[in-house]
Amino acid sequence: MILTFKVKHYMDFSHELSLAHKVAEFALRTGSRSSKDVKHIGLKSMIANQILRKYSKDKRLKHVRRVVLAIPNQGMHVDKQNKKINIPSLKLDLDYQFRNDFKKINQIEINKDYAFISVTVDEPLIRKIDGYIGVDRNTTGHIAVVGNPTTGKVLKLGKSAEYIHKKYKNIRKNLQKKGKYGLVKKIKHRESNIVRNLNHKVSRKIVDTADKNNTGIKLEDIKQIRKHVKSRRGFRYSLNSWSYYQLEQMIRYKAKLLGIPVEYIEPAYTSQNCSRCGHLGNRNGKKFMCPSCGHVDHADSNASFNIALRQVKDGRLNVDRDTFKGSTDTPQTAMMGTTLTVEPHVL
Ligand SMILES: [Zn+2]
Repeated sequence: MILTFKVKHYMDFSHELSLAHKVAEFALRTGSRSSKDVKHIGLKSMIANQILRKYSKDKRLKHVRRVVLAIPNQGMHVDKQNKKINIPSLKLDLDYQFRNDFKKINQIEINKDYAFISVTVDEPLIRKIDGYIGVDRNTTGHIAVVGNPTTGKVLKLGKSAEYIHKKYKNIRKNLQKKGKYGLVKKIKHRESNIVRNLNHKVSRKIVDTADKNNTGIKLEDIKQIRKHVKSRRGFRYSLNSWSYYQLEQMIRYKAKLLGIPVEYIEPAYTSQNCSRCGHLGNRNGKKFMCPSCGHVDHADSNASFNIALRQVKDGRLNVDRDTFKGSTDTPQTAMMGTTLTVEPHVL
């Protein structure tokens, strides 16, 4: 699997980055792939080639934004013993602290402040587990509610998410009224950072819980959630489908690093059925009651148990949904800096 680590480089590459921007614009305009065509711009041809390839190939790219200096594997020297990387074309020396057991560095992307170093590491074997924990992401007030049917324990994680969302929504509304659109964008960015940090903590906790209890993790299929959720429980953690997705990606890659399996289930009726006897129950706000067996539970807990106990969808067991290219992962504390390829486009 590919992991990306973030390392501060303490250099000023604003000149190179502005040249890179020009190369990208040229590639977008002309579709050129030849570094000869952009020689006049003056960016090192190895770096220019990477940018040309990206911007001439991807038809979805309409605008040039956030160009990085991409250094391919052959453009660097790696000294594993001293944990140093040298990039001659940029006269850059990087010290790294992350795990040294990577097979190779695929590439390094450099922006104003950071180098994003993407490495290939061996994927741990999927471990033998005792049951599953269920993760409910469409709860009455948390980012996720985690139920372990074996122990009967329930964890409610990320309570502040709704509050944060409301708070920032109000701020944005006020700014919009005043016509301060630049600030609106800034605020959006700030909110998505806060949510990302929260998702990091929540996913960490979920994966640690699975690790301690030696369970796998079951999630509702997010595409199905999108289809059903509006008619079901009202899209509480509303509009934030990107946040659902982001949390999912974080759970997946943190679980993968520990060999913990993550499975998907069909989300229909996870909130209406009784987790004890399987019969249809009555749901009233946060309360769940089963007329068949008399079971009474918090609605979110009941749903999370149902998710944990539900059979995995046919044919989905081994489907790898890893569509993201890699995630920054400097151990625990620095995990805050994950660069998932998810854009917060609908806030
Ligand atoms: Zn029941």
